[in-house]
Amino acid sequence: MRLLVVGGGVAGPAVALAAVRLGLEATVLERRAVADPEEGSWITVAPNGLDALEALGVLDEVRALAVPSRATSMFGATGRHLGDVTLGKPLADGTVALTMRRSALAVLLADAAQQAGALVRRGADVVSVEDEPGRPVRVVLADGTAVEGDLLVAADGVRSRIRRTVDPAAPDARYVGLANFGGITRAADLDPSVVAGLAPEAWHFVFGRRSFFGAHPLPTGDVVWFANVPREPILRAERAATTDEEWLALLGGLVAGDAGPAAALVAAGSLELAGDSTYDLPHVPTWWRERTVLVGDAAHAPSPSSGQGAAMALEDAVVLARAVAAHGLDGPAAYERSRRARVEAVVRAGARSSSAKIPGRLGRVLVETMLAGVFRSGVAARATLAQTSHRLGDPVVPSSPSAG
Ligand SMILES: Cc1cc2nc3c(=O)[nH]c(=O)nc-3n(C[C@H](O)[C@H](O)[C@H](O)COP(=O)(O)OP(=O)(O)OC[C@H]3O[C@@H](n4cnc5c(N)ncnc54)[C@H](O)[C@@H]3O)c2cc1C
Repeated sequence: MRLLVVGGGVAGPAVALAAVRLGLEATVLERRAVADPEEGSWITVAPNGLDALEALGVLDEVRALAVPSRATSMFGATGRHLGDVTLGKPLADGTVALTMRRSALAVLLADAAQQAGALVRRGADVVSVEDEPGRPVRVVLADGTAVEGDLLVAADGVRSRIRRTVDPAAPDARYVGLANFGGITRAADLDPSVVAGLAPEAWHFVFGRRSFFGAHPLPTGDVVWFANVPREPILRAERAATTDEEWLALLGGLVAGDAGPAAALVAAGSLELAGDSTYDLPHVPTWWRERTVLVGDAAHAPSPSSGQGAAMALEDAVVLARAVAAHGLDGPAAYERSRRARVEAVVRAGARSSSAKIPGRLGRVLVETMLAGVFRSGVAARATLAQTSHRLGDPVVPSSPSAG
């Protein structure tokens, strides 16, 4: 069985890795020509995603490029402490959630898939799919060449092009009302009191007056941060016309007056992600057709506020590869049966987290009091524990006993 996997983000290389470990063939086709592990935004992979990485046999390598994240401390705009929330149930060996660059995770997974026997082709932009009954599936690349396989795995992200070839009526991704910015501030550019005010190995979240801000210290003393700004989507033209300095000035204005580290971090920081519009994808009615199946954000994208998108993509990858190894071309149906209810519940929870970041008609003080009540009641912690306690069971291929 030859898998053609479109997309070299998180889900694609993870499917390829699991598939080759299970004796299938896999080729990953990624549009971007160069893989840079040092670019873009940071993500936190919750313990359920780490469990999937463990099943894939790469958790130790991931641990080496990540920093632990034990909890999130929530604050209001005036500095009021609203509560602390766990980032999930640790793995049996005590491993807590891990924070890393998304690009570093993607490159690690692609390298691991390649070492295990998959082919990873970069600069391979899939422009069309031919999937007719009784024939191998065929994709055409932007350079005019074509590649054939027995099953096409569409891991091409929340704005998936292939979703519409599976179902022409498939929904578009939904804008959740927040623009995303990510940055890093170097220790050398920071007053030490700013870092001292941040708990180590934790996210520090501020429900600010005009934006939602998150900061995480690194062991080097540098601090990574993000800001979610409620506004209409940022379109390509605005992004192209706005410099990083202009975005930073805008962010500086939005966080001005909020208590906490945001103003200092923005003032001395540089942007790594600018003006990214935030989407989710709650319900895609058709996940597979003929020889094509959707996986990861292409099938079900939780808003980034859920902190679960990458973890869901990793869980998907293991479940799909196992289902195809066990059931061949009937694998996608088995995969959908075991995944749909779980991922759609996670997307719904993510949408609620996003809307809590958008100031509504209720005043800030009321919202802070409500949030403090929610955190104190343990509702948020219980929801996180429920999401992150999910485990996939055994490794994809159990490690063989050592010889001798
Ligand atoms: C700002 C931000 C913060 C986030 N934070 C978190 C977090 O803390 N925790 C968490 O778990 N998740 C987080 N997420 C979500 C997470 O990043 C995604 O859920 C995850 O990356 C989904 O993986 P994927 O492989 O399905 O899609 P992607 O990672 O988007 O990968 C899709 C890949 O397909 C390629 N591609 C697209 N079209 C084609 C084509 N036609 N031909 C070839 N290649 C193609 C793209 O270049 C890309 O590499 C965050 C997301 C954002 C935007």
